[in-house]
Amino acid sequence: VVAIRDLHKSFGALEVLKGISFEAREGEVVSLIGSSGSGKSTLLRCINMLEVPDQGSVSIDAEEIRLRGRPPHRQIADEHQIRRIRSELGMVFQSFNLWAHLSILDNVMEAPLVVQKRPRAEVEAEALAMLAKVGIAEKAHAYPNQLSGGQQQRAAIARALCINPRVMLFDEPTSALDPELEVEVLRVIKLLADEGRTMILVTHDMEFARSVSDRVIFLHQGLIEEEGTPDQVFGATRSARLKQFLNAAS
Ligand code: ATP
Ligand code: MG
Repeated sequence: VVAIRDLHKSFGALEVLKGISFEAREGEVVSLIGSSGSGKSTLLRCINMLEVPDQGSVSIDAEEIRLRGRPPHRQIADEHQIRRIRSELGMVFQSFNLWAHLSILDNVMEAPLVVQKRPRAEVEAEALAMLAKVGIAEKAHAYPNQLSGGQQQRAAIARALCINPRVMLFDEPTSALDPELEVEVLRVIKLLADEGRTMILVTHDMEFARSVSDRVIFLHQGLIEEEGTPDQVFGATRSARLKQFLNAAS
């Protein structure tokens, strides 16, 4: 579903991604792990072109996102294409990014109504079903500041699901949460994995990465240092750097 080829990205003199290639196939959960600054968020942001890569390509369902120009002025070539492709990608960030002035239900309905211009009745029914799925149906008419962090993050997941994306991208979705609130968000992500959703997940929770992933990718200084099944990566670690990282993380 998602294919990334030889991705490079620098910020000024700092080369953050140095040639990354991987795929997430239909129904696969791919976790990205690695120390702070290794380029995990930048990689995720390059997939939906919140950052435009300097070199390399991103394809969604075999359709390559078109770019033009040369770094550092490389840009999206076709606004229509990127808008269409972004609606295939549901993104959930560390901070919940809900609109404070909209109810939870209105937050979830915003993109399907305003961007996708779908009929209100249909969107509302779907939004309520998504809120029930993530376990906060009773909060539909509350405002974000009336919810716990875990509930807000689950609302953000419901909102991302409501655009009916082909792929969900998660960037450390629980790192802003207290441990007891983390559990309920992880449970929702596990539920989505078990449903066979294609997901790319940045996490520093190794136990969760092990339990939820089909494949784990360890990034080190902008390159893939090791990748494999959770059993290979965590159980039969080859890279000395990954061993060191896992020791520090546990
Ligand atoms: P963390 O685990 O702390 O979230 P990360 O692996 O997600 O780290 P990135 O956020 O991708 O790391 O950042 C990689 C490097 O790129 C860092 O050195 C960061 O300071 C730098 N960087 C990221 N975004 C920008 C930007 N917009 N401008 C300049 N430098 C940036
Ligand atoms: Mg990050």
